[in-house]
Amino acid sequence: MTTIAFIGLGNMGNPMAANLVKAGHEVHGFDLVPDNLKAAQGNSVAVADSAAAAVKGASVVITMLPAGKHVLAVYEDIVAAAEKGTLFIDSSTIDVDSARKAHEIAAAAGMLSVDAPVSGGVGGAEAGTLTFMAGGSGEAFAKAEPILQPMAGKVVHCGDAGAGQAAKICNNMILGISMIGVGEAFVLAEKLGLSHQALFDVASTSSGQCWSLTTYCPVPGPVPTSPANRDYKPGFAAALMLKDLKLAQEAAQSAGAVTPLGAEATQLYALFNAMGHGGTDFSGIIKFLRGDVA
Ligand code: NAD
Repeated sequence: MTTIAFIGLGNMGNPMAANLVKAGHEVHGFDLVPDNLKAAQGNSVAVADSAAAAVKGASVVITMLPAGKHVLAVYEDIVAAAEKGTLFIDSSTIDVDSARKAHEIAAAAGMLSVDAPVSGGVGGAEAGTLTFMAGGSGEAFAKAEPILQPMAGKVVHCGDAGAGQAAKICNNMILGISMIGVGEAFVLAEKLGLSHQALFDVASTSSGQCWSLTTYCPVPGPVPTSPANRDYKPGFAAALMLKDLKLAQEAAQSAGAVTPLGAEATQLYALFNAMGHGGTDFSGIIKFLRGDVA
């Protein structure tokens, strides 16, 4: 049993903390939103009245926050309150530069740290089947892995500080681009009089095969579990896809990488969001490509 502080008990953090409690850990939680604290209490998380109070007596601190600025502000606030040698795990999706800064803050105070963003969404958080992509030293990862296991289907050590965030945004850049590619192909098929099922039957076993087609097909019918069959209720919201694509573009600029399709995908998701569809599943971009939304 480990005492774990969990900061950020939103859509993802609450079910993740609940799985740590189920695994027998003592979890001290904090969030700025009272309703989230109430939900955490319902999951047997001991609620603290500040982030610094949650960290007292904990040997592991997990953060699950919206963006880099929140993570850095919380780290500045709580690192001094933690005991030396505490393991800091940040599972938020944030920019690589902020992730590296968070590692520096932790290291300067004598703490171990891991950036460990996730994929799998709220469903994966509830089921305890998230994929964790971890960056940090071998020592920090070895300590983090057993803590992450009750929340995880898979835990991958991607490399040093920031490598987890790098893996996350590179993966999601592929996803954003491939979903647009699959959407465009279905829209072209419609214009050519080719049925959705016929394109799916060919492409799903041919060289067009990819996750956006075979698991998350953006038209209703061929894959009954995909959000297209429930009017594009997320799933993975277009607003979160835009966030991840912007992080990839920031990282590309910072690192001097050329990513023209990533840039184009960011523009298209930005337009879709600006039209008021940020709460739609990201596969709903096909409606924009078809000209169905204004
Ligand atoms: P969310 O907005 O539901 O939760 C974030 C929580 O952080 C909120 O409850 C907010 O009140 C809290 N918070 C903000 N500042 C705080 C502070 N200073 N102290 C304490 N709490 C604070 O978001 P989410 O959907 O749970 O996502 C969390 C992170 O996980 C994000 O970085 C997101 O990109 C990433 N992520 C989300 C999904 C998803 O499907 N929702 C999937 C993968 C990754």
